[in-house]
Amino acid sequence: AKAGRDGSWARFVPALDAPAADQARLAAGLRDGLGRGDFRVLYQPIVELPSRRITGVEALVRWHDPERGVIPPDQFIPVAERSGLIVPLGQWVLREACRDASAWPGVYVCVNVSPRQLDDPDFVADVAVALADSGLPADRLVLEVTETAVFNGGPAVDALNLLREMGVRIALDDFGTGQSSLGLLLTCPVDVLKVDKSFVDGVTEPGERAVIVQFLSQVASGLNLDTVAEGVETPEQAERLHELGYRKAQGYLFSKPVPASTLFLDRVLSYR
Ligand code: C2E
Ligand code: CA
Ligand code: CA
Ligand code: CA
Repeated sequence: AKAGRDGSWARFVPALDAPAADQARLAAGLRDGLGRGDFRVLYQPIVELPSRRITGVEALVRWHDPERGVIPPDQFIPVAERSGLIVPLGQWVLREACRDASAWPGVYVCVNVSPRQLDDPDFVADVAVALADSGLPADRLVLEVTETAVFNGGPAVDALNLLREMGVRIALDDFGTGQSSLGLLLTCPVDVLKVDKSFVDGVTEPGERAVIVQFLSQVASGLNLDTVAEGVETPEQAERLHELGYRKAQGYLFSKPVPASTLFLDRVLSYR
């Protein structure tokens, strides 16, 4: 098992190659937690540059296990994906996010969608129901998918096309880290590129990463795609990204993910 920050829950969380029994135990824990309502959704602001005004938020799930405390998604999403539990969990996150965001006029909400969810034949209908029940207008929902989820085309891309006809926007998450080619931008319905933190990290130093960040900005503007720079941690990065044409950014510089109740408190964006 992987070491946790405080070690308290680490021994319960199996590594990818852990014995099937460990995986099964965690999956059972997930199922119980879902039944008990042990999950919470946090929201991380997406801000406009240079004003730092909140334009959107990304919904990020947390598991509050009664005994083990808060378990980060990197530790349980892979197990949820392998066990299929990501479908009900993802549906719960979607509904929660649409309901919360319906109270934030003019702010859009981004929800992460696993490949497994996209392949589920009910997914498009589930999104339609989440929108209808919450009253959130479709143009304030962005679904974040990964390059690998849509790489092979097929039903996943058909689903995205339907969602787009409903007015929902599609973002390619962690852009540049998968095995995709730029051709994906021609074959897959996309509205937003989320440029991964690994590229943003290098944007202030001359070098390959900075070149790629600048290139992606040009590609996006030429193809009329919106861009979000992810994982912005320093004012220097924010300034350089703005110079390179980025109008939106997300990262600890602006705010960590926070509960809905504190999202619009002054402290969240008091970095001006
Ligand atoms: P992601 O979609 O790439 O989300 C961004 C991650 O980067 C989040 O981690 C966020 O807290 C973190 N982050 C944001 N700004 C900074 C920064 O400035 N510095 C650093 N070091 N990190 C930053 P988190 O919340 O732990 O989520 C990890 C991953 O788990 C997400 O990566 C996403 O792939 C997955 N995930 C989270 N919630 C969901 C969900 O509801 N459904 C699905 N399918 N996956 C989810
Ligand atoms: Ca994401
Ligand atoms: Ca990302
Ligand atoms: Ca990521």
